[in-house]
Amino acid sequence: VHPDPERGAAVARDDRAHVFHSWSAQALIAPVPVAGASGSHFWDYEGNRYLDFSSQLVNVNIGYQHPKLVAAIQEAAARQCTIAPSFADESRSEAARLIAERAPGDLDRVFFTNGGAEATENAMRMARLHTGRHKVLATYRSYHGATAGSITATGDPRRWANEPGMPGVVHFWGPYPYRSPFHATTDEQECERALQHLRDLIMVEGPSTIAAVMLETVVGTNGILVPPDGYLAGVREICDEHGIVWIADEVMAGFGRCGEWFAVDHWGVTPDLICFAKGVNSGYVPLGGVVISAPIAQTFEQRAFPGGLTYSGHPLACASAVASIRIFEEEGILENVRKVSDTVIAPRLAEIAEKHPSVGEVRGLGFFWAIELVRDRETREPLVPFNASGAAAGPMNDFAAACRAEGLWPFVHFNRTHVVPPCTTTAEEMAEGLDMLDRALEVADRSAT
Ligand code: PLP
Repeated sequence: VHPDPERGAAVARDDRAHVFHSWSAQALIAPVPVAGASGSHFWDYEGNRYLDFSSQLVNVNIGYQHPKLVAAIQEAAARQCTIAPSFADESRSEAARLIAERAPGDLDRVFFTNGGAEATENAMRMARLHTGRHKVLATYRSYHGATAGSITATGDPRRWANEPGMPGVVHFWGPYPYRSPFHATTDEQECERALQHLRDLIMVEGPSTIAAVMLETVVGTNGILVPPDGYLAGVREICDEHGIVWIADEVMAGFGRCGEWFAVDHWGVTPDLICFAKGVNSGYVPLGGVVISAPIAQTFEQRAFPGGLTYSGHPLACASAVASIRIFEEEGILENVRKVSDTVIAPRLAEIAEKHPSVGEVRGLGFFWAIELVRDRETREPLVPFNASGAAAGPMNDFAAACRAEGLWPFVHFNRTHVVPPCTTTAEEMAEGLDMLDRALEVADRSAT
């Protein structure tokens, strides 16, 4: 790490003058100029180095600048930088085969996109054409992307300013034991009542109007909500009963985040469509896609699929997915996630939950954990209100600043911080990061009773 504040200032200046940033009021932000990154760390031009507990947007699963992945992209660039989706391309063919081989059940074909939103958008399109129905059911506590249909399917407040959006989306409640919408007191009750709620919704919306139920297998940004055992199997059963397509959005939960290739593997269930992006190649080149079941693929055997993208199955992106999948296997990255989760994250977060009055609950699996912060453990009043911003988000901003002062880059959303580092993070780094988090939580404790 060689500090170069002048260069950093120039980067920041051009950024503020010319870059228009996502989700932001442009005058109210000061993006940190990043000078470099390696493994689980990145650093700025001032010489501040951060252990990244966010994996950026929960996508850098293989860590930064993995030498083998960088080399694979360089080789692919030398060989073939671009070719239209209508050709057969070596990297694309291989990426599709490797993904299909790892996908559950009869999910055997891949439609490639450039990212997650295009994946959910096209999955909804496939479900509608396959069923000849138009409605899509999705949960309130969800994020599915920022394109027109995907942001309408999104349940969280990012949808609000984009409404009315795409017609035909109906939202419902998924399971969330800690703040049960069903007044359940056990996981079993939560599971049973959440499934009954979905059945009731389908009854009154009309099963013959519903194309798809779209769910994040494990809800990501909206809380790391791990479904109770039996929930996804129940969703499968309900969808089968009514000929509804089950779309699993694994843009965040897939490719190692839950210690599996696909998060559904954790419960041994098979959706009809799986959306992926992020961890498939850790964003070294933009890539996403939809893995398609045999019956849905069959729908488009003799009938054209009315969708496409200039960069669908981009050779560089696909080559990086091939290399990333190989590296995961060569380096035992799924095994690392399971082991470090069981031996470091789970026990250490249990201690943290015990110790800090501001910690209401810790939950998760793999390298996909949430710490839910509260003002009061009895009433479970959140440390900051739902969708808090500005001054109302003060206590969370103070907590995040305390993390950064420790050298930890946290993921913060509403009243939660998520422990979502690269899947290559070692036990030692994880322990070090959790120690930093532990100290930073003392700041949050000051706002709790
Ligand atoms: N679906 C889920 C579950 C996500 O977490 C995200 C992004 O955070 C998306 C879809 C959208 O992906 P992208 O930002 O690549 O369009």
